[in-house]
Amino acid sequence: MIYFDHAATTPVYPEVFEEMKPFLKDCYANPSSSYEFGQDAKEMMDRARGQIAKTIGAKADEIYFTAGGTEADNQALIGTAEMLQKKGRHIITSMIEHPGVLKTCEYLEKRGFQITYLPVDEEGIVSPEKLEEAIREDTILISVMYANNEIGTLQPIGRIGEIAKKHQILFHTDAVQAYMHEKIDVNEKKLDLLSASGHKFGAPKGVGFLYVKDGIMLPAFVHGGEQEKQRRAGTENVAGIVGMGKASSIGEKNFEKNHKKILKLREYLKEKLLEEFPDCRINGSMEARLDNNINVSFRNLEAASLLLLLDMDGVCVSGGSACHAKNPNPSHVLQAIHVPEEYIRGTIRITLGAENTIGEINYFIRCLKEIILGFL
Ligand SMILES: *Cc1c(COP(=O)(O)O)cnc(C)c1O
Repeated sequence: MIYFDHAATTPVYPEVFEEMKPFLKDCYANPSSSYEFGQDAKEMMDRARGQIAKTIGAKADEIYFTAGGTEADNQALIGTAEMLQKKGRHIITSMIEHPGVLKTCEYLEKRGFQITYLPVDEEGIVSPEKLEEAIREDTILISVMYANNEIGTLQPIGRIGEIAKKHQILFHTDAVQAYMHEKIDVNEKKLDLLSASGHKFGAPKGVGFLYVKDGIMLPAFVHGGEQEKQRRAGTENVAGIVGMGKASSIGEKNFEKNHKKILKLREYLKEKLLEEFPDCRINGSMEARLDNNINVSFRNLEAASLLLLLDMDGVCVSGGSACHAKNPNPSHVLQAIHVPEEYIRGTIRITLGAENTIGEINYFIRCLKEIILGFL
């Protein structure tokens, strides 16, 4: 099997699995327990908090553990909305956000908030000027993703952060795809809130974190016990958290090496695609883009059939994004960048990881060639 779908999820690093094992077996204590057995678990959790904080230039007590990226997005948006609703009820976001943000915005609209969904240009980038024009007296939050999960485009987060700061508006970014693929510094980018998810960077599913800048008192999101400074009650996912801490420190240590390797693979894949399928169309900016993403459209083809045949060849890629796997309509992201009618349905997303090889890319290209020739 060849796995080219790292934007959907990543394999758990073997070192992460090893690090987690004791917490699934012998070290089962509740970290809220006062005896040493419990405090040992708490210490390991605090260590993970520190490891993660360090990777984004934050302080350990600015990291809140969640059950993943979607929950972190929900907390950031709903929490800010609740906290600031007396000040205003207007939120600015983009048209190409992940459903974790988009659906939460729709939920808030039903509760009387107004949302501006900024368009993107044909490269898939939000315009900071348009964003500034959209700011109103009652704007309380700007939420723009760091990198898009379908086309991999990077948003001008630094510029948006400056605009948010200038107008004293809180700034959230969904960094689930960018984390560990881009160097992120929350202070340099003037970020107040940032979401990330463990399973996108070598930790297991069901654990993530929300960075909340010091001094921002988001209301409790899950009500109950005193965990996570009373903002997110419930006994912590100790093993997942410890694993996520380990994955973040492994990712940090190997950052340059992985980045270089993945970028080289991606450029090779891009060249091969353009060479073998001169008629194909690569979507999204090639400059402001994640190292691991190719989103490519083939004219007058159906992605669903491509995926099926590639699957039979043992290749895992995605159509648009995994979240759309069951939805026959072209994705909102491809629509937002105006992929032409004859291309939009023939779009697949290939997202690479550091464990992929040139040989796998060659095999993939060979399979794709046979499949596409078969259609002609
Ligand atoms: C995967 C993803 C999420 C959701 O994270 P989960 O941990 O799966 O809930 C949110 N935003 C983006 C950009 C993603 O790629």
